[in-house]
Amino acid sequence: MLIAVFSDNKSVLLRRHGASGSARIHHTRYHIPSVDELSTEGVQIPTDLWEFAVRGEDVVGGVFLERARLDHMLARTRLRGDSAAFEIVGRRQAADLLDIDDYWAMNRAFHLANWDRNTRFCGACATPMERLSGEIAKTCPSCGGHSYPQISPAVIMAVVHDGKLLMAHSPRHPANLYSVLAGFVEAGETLEHAVSREVFEESGVLVRNITYFSSQPWPFPSSLMIAFTSEYAGGDLTPEEGEIDDIGWYAPNQLPDEIPSTYSVARRLIEWFVSEYGTGDDLQHLLERS
Ligand SMILES: [Zn+2]
Repeated sequence: MLIAVFSDNKSVLLRRHGASGSARIHHTRYHIPSVDELSTEGVQIPTDLWEFAVRGEDVVGGVFLERARLDHMLARTRLRGDSAAFEIVGRRQAADLLDIDDYWAMNRAFHLANWDRNTRFCGACATPMERLSGEIAKTCPSCGGHSYPQISPAVIMAVVHDGKLLMAHSPRHPANLYSVLAGFVEAGETLEHAVSREVFEESGVLVRNITYFSSQPWPFPSSLMIAFTSEYAGGDLTPEEGEIDDIGWYAPNQLPDEIPSTYSVARRLIEWFVSEYGTGDDLQHLLERS
């Protein structure tokens, strides 16, 4: 069993293999450690783990452990001069370090381990919850309430106008990163409603021809991104104060310098736009970008 160990909502413990400690992090391959590898280092994993995800022939579990305990283990492996040491890395950064299937298995393990940690007690009557067998769910022995892993849907959309794509910078994002618009679905909304509302709130623009494109689990901490394409139907660009600090229409050959990572559905929407509205050279140029 492989075990994705989290110290908080942002980091995961990975094992670096085969490289020296001085290697630059982006040029090194990592893997999700096995329970055996960790127990060799004195980290005992709870034995009643759920098997959260399957990666090839391996089962991946997820667990939260105290940071102090992990730091103690890391210090010991460094003192030994271990050339294949463990490291705590950012969960998003792990996309560049792990095999991409391992990365998504790790994220699924995070989603479920996080739910497990946050539902130790019944939300209605505060009794400790018990596991149901045969499925990933819990029940309350006192009031009979159930808990299943929560998934929060969010919509993300390409809006196209005159062959240009609507892209924006959010103050929450890195300084130069521009992306398509996105937001959470609200209670009682259809996905199409959510697309129209989010685009209007964030940009002042109306859309039509809202068409399903693709989806992607986004467990940061528990979302499912549902992607759409759409067309401009009216309105003037008016960025939402506090949410968007710059917004504009971008041609396929004049995309912003920094755009979302290749593993994200946002990136696939941008690639869709360039393949539909740009030239072969524009698409080739985009596919060569990191
Ligand atoms: Zn209860």
